[in-house]
Amino acid sequence: MLYYYIKVKKDKPQPFNKIRRKTMRLFATPSKIEVSEAKKHGRLLVLWLEIWPSCHLNCQFCFNNGGRASKEESWLKVEDYYRMIDEFASLGGKYIGIPGYGEPFHPQNVELTISIIRYAKERQVKTYVFTTADLIGLDLAKQLDELKVTLMVKFNSFKASIQDTLVGVSGYAAKRAKALEILKQLDFTKNEKGDDGEVTTRLGFVTSIIPENENEIEEIWKYCLANNIYPDVDTILPSGRGECFQATSPEKIREICKSATGKDLKSPTYLDGHCDRTQYGLYVNYQGKIFPCLGCKSNGKKISLGNVGAGLALAWNMVLMRKIRNRDYFGKCATCQHFQNNECNSCFGRCCTKCSEDEIKMEGCPFYSGPMET
Ligand code: SF4
Ligand code: SF4
Ligand code: SF4
Repeated sequence: MLYYYIKVKKDKPQPFNKIRRKTMRLFATPSKIEVSEAKKHGRLLVLWLEIWPSCHLNCQFCFNNGGRASKEESWLKVEDYYRMIDEFASLGGKYIGIPGYGEPFHPQNVELTISIIRYAKERQVKTYVFTTADLIGLDLAKQLDELKVTLMVKFNSFKASIQDTLVGVSGYAAKRAKALEILKQLDFTKNEKGDDGEVTTRLGFVTSIIPENENEIEEIWKYCLANNIYPDVDTILPSGRGECFQATSPEKIREICKSATGKDLKSPTYLDGHCDRTQYGLYVNYQGKIFPCLGCKSNGKKISLGNVGAGLALAWNMVLMRKIRNRDYFGKCATCQHFQNNECNSCFGRCCTKCSEDEIKMEGCPFYSGPMET
């Protein structure tokens, strides 16, 4: 059984960990004040941009059926990304997320990824990138450091044998460990204060709770907090290969949440919080199609907001998007206490059964908590 050589600080007392989690956020994600202002004024604050879909791994639960891909004419070109960033910045947008829909630092993608990050930085837009990290060597890490990028690294298990099996590539975990050591030395985990006084970090671990790692989640959580790494722990998104993947039971997820965070689980999206990105963000895929978010679908069909050629502003102001921004939902989620208390925003990838200008129906999840008493 192989463990990483970044040592887990198991001796940190529990209360310390819990206090740190309340205040830590990622350097390239909005503060609570920015989010609340954006919601109040209906402003687009965050844009997720897919990079081209090539990936060297073969994750068993990949939300995108990731793997090799040959370049096609329909893929966005670097100029298309630049135009989008220009419009986004002119609308007041401040943060770009590059999801791991295709590995951003794959040889086919790395040049494009760096160009996007650099162009965004020149327009005062910060970027965070979801990555497998194993392809990051010292030179690339230095470049990313100079560009002040935030990295969200795939981290499903401390155990190399489990991690390698999950991604379908032997030796992956060892390469990732080397990259993490470089990032640590370059101060990606340095404790900095953001403009709002919150502690920030430029490194996060992205972990989905699955049967293979369910007994490690608490350890991953505490390791992150003790090392100034943001723990981004969620449940499997039933999309791509994730649709057929055996998920951890809701009872076990509740138990993990309580023991790791000390709190009751309130949303199926994240272990300690919920996803409200649809109220201040948009998602654009590598072919220029716009969606409300990464996993949004209604009865298996993607919820489309048109194409980026018509502009982001048009999609942002569509009647459907306004309804989504205002959480104008029907169905079980609308009656759930967690929804009514703003502790869960429902989820377009997990709950949506109908989505049109007439009606957005969200049919609940295993963590439903009945209507509030009036
Ligand atoms: S989850 Fe990400 S890293 Fe894994 S196969 Fe899919 S795109 Fe590649
Ligand atoms: S609403 Fe659900 S599918 Fe969409 S980004 Fe949030 S967690 Fe993912
Ligand atoms: S039922 Fe809906 S609102 Fe309630 S916890 Fe589940 S996803 Fe959230």
